[in-house]
Parts: sequence; C-alpha cells; structure tokens
Amino acid sequence: MNMNEFVLTNELAIRLVFFFGIFAVMALWELAAPRRELTVSKGVRWANNLGLVFFNSVFLRLLFPAAAVGVAVWAQTQGWGLFNHIQVGLIPAIIISVVVMDLVIYLQHVMVHAIPLFWRLHRVHHADLDYDVTTGSRFHPLEILLSMGIKFATILLLGPPVLAVVIFEVILNAMAMFNHANVRLPSGLDRMLRFLVVTPDMHRVHHSVEDDEANSNFGFNLSIWDRLFGTYRSQPRAGHEGMTIGIRQFREARQVQWFSGILMMPFVGKVTDYAINRRQWNDSDEA
Ligand SMILES: [Zn+2]
Ligand SMILES: [Zn+2]
Repeated sequence: MNMNEFVLTNELAIRLVFFFGIFAVMALWELAAPRRELTVSKGVRWANNLGLVFFNSVFLRLLFPAAAVGVAVWAQTQGWGLFNHIQVGLIPAIIISVVVMDLVIYLQHVMVHAIPLFWRLHRVHHADLDYDVTTGSRFHPLEILLSMGIKFATILLLGPPVLAVVIFEVILNAMAMFNHANVRLPSGLDRMLRFLVVTPDMHRVHHSVEDDEANSNFGFNLSIWDRLFGTYRSQPRAGHEGMTIGIRQFREARQVQWFSGILMMPFVGKVTDYAINRRQWNDSDEA
C-alpha cells in the first residue's frame, strides 16, 4: 500500500484522532489556566457550539473534506492543476501547496469580512460571547459550503499532492483549536511563535467587538500574511482580560449562544448593516 492509498483509506480516522487529541489537550489547558473568565456558562457554550459542530460534521464536514481529497485525486487522474503539469519533488510540492492553500484561506477570510452578504454567514463565528477551543469550530453550515467551493477551485488550479490536502486539513483544524483556546502562552514564547504562526493572543484580537480590531489578524495558520498585507495588530487596546469579545449588536445569549439562534443569524437584519464601504460606525445601530 503506498502513502496515497494509506492516507485515503484512513483519512477519516487520521482527522478524528487529531481532532479529539488536540481538542482534549486544549480543553484541559483552558480548564487548568483560563486566560479570561467566561461570560456564559461552559455547559451552555459547549452544548451549543459542539452541537453546531456535530450538525456540520454529519451534514457537511465529514462528507466534504473527503471530497476535497477526492477532488485532489480526480485532478491528478485528469492532469488538472499546476503540480500535475510541472515536475517537482513530493516534499516541495507539499510545502508549496500547504502555503498556497493557507494564503487562499487568509484571502477568503478577508473577503467574508469585506462583502456584507458573506459577513452575515461569518458573523456566526464572531458572535460567540466568549473565546475558547469550541469557538474555533463554530461556523455556519452555509459558510462551510462556501469554504468548500473555494477549496475545490483551489485544488483544481493547484493540483496539489493528495497528501498535502490531508496535511492541510489536519493543520487547519488543529491550529483553529489551538489559536481559539482560552489560554495564555508565556509572552516570550508567544512572541517567538508569532514570527511563524498565529497564536491564541494574536487571533483573539480578531474577535474583539471593536471594528478596527476585528478587521485585523485574518490569518489562521501562518502569521506572515497579516504582516505582509498590512492587517497585523499585535494586541487589543483594552488588553486581553479587559477586551470585549463578540459583535456589538449581538449580545443576547439566546440569539448568539443557542443553536437555533446561531442557525438563523445570517437571516437577521439588513444586508447593508455592515459593509466595508461604510466608514462611519454607529454604536446605536440595531441589527
Ligand atoms: Zn473573522
Ligand atoms: Zn476566529
């Protein structure tokens, strides 16, 4: 059995082992040394955020990531995409593919903040009143569908090794749980890690209610994209303990924390409520 076959046969098992393993590590770390106090009880948060993850997994996530691998296999057999045309060693092809897919995720993230219709989907991720390991997987099913479409298109153009797609999915999933965790890294370690990757303190800035802070630090894995494209912000003005997490217009737990409210959130309010071409923000605006 070659590597591709092994990964294809065991793809789901590989993903689940990493998901549960890293989830358990981050959850225990949060329990032992939380960075911030939670505003909503952990039971309510976890039941609903994980309920959403389960819902997404059943209907989308476990089907479509396999499809992402399937698209990579299909691109290979059809000779589609860059790496199915040029001869590069497997290792450089994997590294380049993972980095390019990470850049695409960064650009996609900027896009879902910039385009009002897409922001309606993405605000489900931001409306969480607290920030912990479960926030990292909290996405509306329609946003996951959008992500899948973009991922498939990227794979068809790039023609990455199948292994690169699985590696990227596992890294993205693991990093999302790591950098959404309610934990504190020693400041020296945080500074060092940030040269290469996104840390919990770096991404927490992105979950601030302050519009300028929420429109920074779009990266999920590599930290270079924010520095390169000018969206980097090192710390929140109010500090990590003092900052407010979430979206200013969505503060009611029943709407932002309960499963039904989360699913309905994209359909609430006017489509122009939040747009990148509005430079004047009005605090009293109702959603
Ligand atoms: Zn965002
Ligand atoms: Zn986030």
